Amino acid sequence: ASRFQGVEQGPPIEVFLLNRLFTEDTFQNKVNLGVGAYRDENGKPWVLPIVRKMEKQLAADETLLHEYLPVLGLEQFCNASVAMLLGEDSPAIAAGKAFGVQVLSGTGGLRVGAEFLNKHLKYDTFYYSTPTWENHHLVFVNSGFTKPRSYRYWDPKTRGIDFDGFIEDLKSAPENAVILLHACAHNPTGIDPTREQWVKIADVMEERKLFPFFDSAYQGFASGDLDGDAWAVRYFVSRGFELLCAQSYAKNFGLYNERVGNLAVVLNESAHVARIKSQMTWIVRGMYSNPPAHGAHVVATVLTNKQLFDEWRDHIKLMSTRVMQMREALRSELVKLGTPGNWDHIVKQIGLFSYTGLNQRQCEYLIQEYHIYLLKSGRINICGLNPGNVQYVAKAINDAVTK
Ligand code: PLP
Repeated sequence: ASRFQGVEQGPPIEVFLLNRLFTEDTFQNKVNLGVGAYRDENGKPWVLPIVRKMEKQLAADETLLHEYLPVLGLEQFCNASVAMLLGEDSPAIAAGKAFGVQVLSGTGGLRVGAEFLNKHLKYDTFYYSTPTWENHHLVFVNSGFTKPRSYRYWDPKTRGIDFDGFIEDLKSAPENAVILLHACAHNPTGIDPTREQWVKIADVMEERKLFPFFDSAYQGFASGDLDGDAWAVRYFVSRGFELLCAQSYAKNFGLYNERVGNLAVVLNESAHVARIKSQMTWIVRGMYSNPPAHGAHVVATVLTNKQLFDEWRDHIKLMSTRVMQMREALRSELVKLGTPGNWDHIVKQIGLFSYTGLNQRQCEYLIQEYHIYLLKSGRINICGLNPGNVQYVAKAINDAVTK
C-alpha cells in the first residue's frame, strides 16, 4: 500500500477546467470567454512585438548569464516598476520612502506581502470584495491570515457598486485590518469606484486605521492610460497612507507564464527601509530563494528606455481599445436583437472582464448549447470576442435570456 493512498482529490480550478473543456471541444465555432488573457481579433494569443524584440536582443546578448539574481530581484526592474506605479515625480520615491521587491507576478506579490504583514506586523484580518478574484482568499490564508472577511462591492440590482454597503463594512472593520483593493479594472466585475468614492474610502480607512493592500494586475489595461489607472494608488500615497501594492506584468506585457511582478512598498519614513528589506529577504529566501530573470529583463529594458516605452504604450493602447470596441459591439448586438434587460453595464465596465449578470443556468446553457465557455458567475473575458464571433455570442445570449 502506498503511504499516499489517503490523499483526497482536490476540487478543480474553475477557470483552468473551463480552458481544458474548451480545448477538447471540437465544435468549429466554439468561443472561449473564460480565460483571463488577451486574445487578438482572430482569437489568438498575442505576444507583444516589443517583447519579441527584447527577447531577440536578450538571446543575442552573450554577456547575459544565468547567474542567480539577488533575493529581492533586479534592482533596475524594481525601481522602474515603483516609478510606473507612483509616477516618475513621486515625492515618496524622491524621499526614499518607496521601494520594490521583484516577485512571482501579481500572485507572488500578494503572497510575499501578506506573509510579511502577518509575520512582522502581526496582522491577522483581511477584507476582500464580494466578489473578488478567486485566489485572494487562498493566498492570504496560506500567508497566515486567520480572519478572512469580506466587504460588499457588487450590487446585482444596479449592476454597479454597492457603495453604501462597502463603506458600512469598512466602518465596522477592526483597526489594522488589511483591505485588499483592486487598483483598477476590478476582477471580476469590471466596475471601479469613482474618484469621489475613492476619496470617501480613504477617509474611512484613515479614520478606522485600516491598511490598504492594492492589487494592480491591469495597469494600462483599464483605460489605456498608465497614469490614469494608477490614480487610486497615487491618491492614497498622497494622503500619507503606508501601503503595499502587488504589480503584475502578466496582462499589460502579455508575460503570463514568465511570472514577472513587483511588490511596491510605500512607507512614511525612509528609516525603516533597510530593516524591512532584510526581513523581506528572509521571507523570499524561505519561499523560493530568488526570482527568475528573463521577464524582469524584458520589462526593465522597456520601462527604462523612452523609445521602447512609447512602443509598449502603443501596444497597451491597442489592446485596451480593442476591448472597448468589443464591449460596444456586444452591447449593440444585444440591443439590436431586443434582448430583454439593460446592457449598458457592458460598456460602463472596464478592463478585460464583464460581469454580465447572466445566471448560472444561463451560463451552463451557453456552454452546452453554443460551446461558448464562461465562468458560472457570468463573468466573461471581453477580448474572447472578435468581429468574427460577436454576433454569434450575442444571439446565443439572447437565446439564453429569452428561452
Ligand atoms: N489579481 C487579480 C485581480 C487578477 O485578476 C490576477 C490575474 O488574473 C492576479 C492578481 C494575478 O495574476 P498573476 O499572478 O498572473 O500576475
